[in-house]
Amino acid sequence: MSNCLFCRIVAGEIPADVVLRTEDVVAFRDVNPQAPVHVLVIPVEHHANIAELSAQAPHLTSKLLDAAAAVAKSEGLDNQYRLVFNTGADVGQSVFHVHAHVLGGRDFTWPPG
Ligand code: 5GP
Ligand code: ZN
Repeated sequence: MSNCLFCRIVAGEIPADVVLRTEDVVAFRDVNPQAPVHVLVIPVEHHANIAELSAQAPHLTSKLLDAAAAVAKSEGLDNQYRLVFNTGADVGQSVFHVHAHVLGGRDFTWPPG
């Protein structure tokens, strides 16, 4: 998908701070971080959202989740992280190439403790 921002990051056409790259997934820092650690993990293959990915490519879904855990570990989050898949514009999805937000390094409990 040549008009997809994240396909262009995968292709190296748009620069990104890549923290993990395999044959199947790429992880890079979010340009507008919402936490001290905020990394996006995406499949190389284009799928619009997590529902489509899990229906169409379960093996890639598993690799995506494994990569998210590996990123959390390499970022020093010690099994304390939040994974978010915004699905649909009404809940804030703005890039329609599935991505896991790996967030950590601050208190996410509510009310904050
Ligand atoms: P969404 O709102 O779709 O769940 O998440 C999209 C995320 O992509 C946002 O957190 C936004 O900051 C991030 N983002 C948008 N454009 C770029 C970009 O060009 N580079 C990087 N690294 N992140 C981006
Ligand atoms: Zn794409």
